[in-house]
Amino acid sequence: MTDSIPNISPPPELLDALQSARRPLLITHISPDGDAIGSLTALGYLLYRMGKDPILACQDKAPNAFNFLPFYDRIVQNVDDANADLVIALDSSDPSRLGDIYDEAQFADLPLLVIDHHITNVYFGDINWVEPACCATDELIFHLARVLNEPLDEALATALLTGIVTDTRGFRTSNVTPAVMHITGQLLDAGAPLAMITERTLDTRSMALIKLWARVLDTVELSDGVISAINAIQMRKDLGGLIRAEGLVSFILGAEEAKIAAVFTEMPEGKVECSFRALPGYDVSQIAFEMGGGGHPPAAGCTTDGDLPGVRRKIVALLQEEVRSKSR
Ligand code: 5GP
Ligand code: MN
Repeated sequence: MTDSIPNISPPPELLDALQSARRPLLITHISPDGDAIGSLTALGYLLYRMGKDPILACQDKAPNAFNFLPFYDRIVQNVDDANADLVIALDSSDPSRLGDIYDEAQFADLPLLVIDHHITNVYFGDINWVEPACCATDELIFHLARVLNEPLDEALATALLTGIVTDTRGFRTSNVTPAVMHITGQLLDAGAPLAMITERTLDTRSMALIKLWARVLDTVELSDGVISAINAIQMRKDLGGLIRAEGLVSFILGAEEAKIAAVFTEMPEGKVECSFRALPGYDVSQIAFEMGGGGHPPAAGCTTDGDLPGVRRKIVALLQEEVRSKSR
């Protein structure tokens, strides 16, 4: 089986930095998803098992859906007294993705490692390990454990599989290679509960989220291959502080006529969060990157200034141009 898994390895300097660290600070991205929390807990757990004293951090609270992960309860939202000797950025293509928790002045003297799989990564670390062909940052952590000769156990396998399942939406994306399935087989052998992970992270949603979906779906429009919807602050009133219509952008891409989907979420202070999805053959990462964000060709996002209708109009036009240029 192992023969079918390519030898993807971190740079040797990254291995040296990890081996010599005593108290590494691991930071994953804001608004964390399954790969953010999966790679944070997988690497944190792995380093702990290697005798280190890792700190696991994220600016935003990890969603409850991930509370089955090892070290979920150890994730902190404040690192003022971290006393770290190494910083590791996970699943983050640029430093802004780390949020307020990453204070460059505070950590200026510490080496920064970047471990990521976004094609738009800007290589902001002292040592960067970026593998855009990998389906999840958790896939890199699998390779790291293999290179370190660290055996899989149930907790590690569960954290690794969580990122793979969520970033591929249950093995549906085109970056699910035979190698990903072989890796998944090894994770299942080690005891990772695939059905539970899928159920908890992809199929379970709150009643409030279902109500938000209803309101956002009511705004859906489609023209020239681009389907879009808006999520205004007013629409989230009485939904208990819920912000994102999680999962909805992938759902509307399922419209037969759509090639690209976008959801625009109104935020305070005149900001709009944009979330994009594209069918194979179309690329939304470049447009997101040019707007100050990033992502992958089929899934990307950015945050921009402006009012909701204006941002929608401007970005839908860019996305329609992407559809046109690939349909010629
Ligand atoms: P989502 O639409 O699920 O929030 O994000 C889809 C993909 O785009 C993810 O890979 C995520 O990391 C990336 N992404 C979303 N928003 C941003 C952003 O503001 N900046 C960057 N660099 N990447 C983003
Ligand atoms: Mn990821």
